[in-house]
Amino acid sequence: MELERCRSCNAAIRWVTTEKGKGHPLNPDPDAGGNVVFVGPTEQGAVHFMTKDEMAAPTSRPRYTSHFATCPQARTWSRGVTPAARARTQERFDQETRDREEPKA
Ligand SMILES: [Zn+2]
Repeated sequence: MELERCRSCNAAIRWVTTEKGKGHPLNPDPDAGGNVVFVGPTEQGAVHFMTKDEMAAPTSRPRYTSHFATCPQARTWSRGVTPAARARTQERFDQETRDREEPKA
């Protein structure tokens, strides 16, 4: 497992790839209340964001939480924000992910 630090709050994060091929930061410790599971039998592959129905069903697989959900610097992810603010935060994280994957000269 490769751990890095959140650029915003310096917490340890684990970079994974979503089913759509996008980089995404997870909190490294499993969380029974999390909504993120790995798709494959190992924890090397893509992650899946569980639906409400999937969340309600029992699972033996470890669940994780997106760092977006807990990052104290990502307040726009908390309750009561507008979709536009949420989208801006998403865009910022996406941009950081792109920068990370394609370092600019
Ligand atoms: Zn953070």
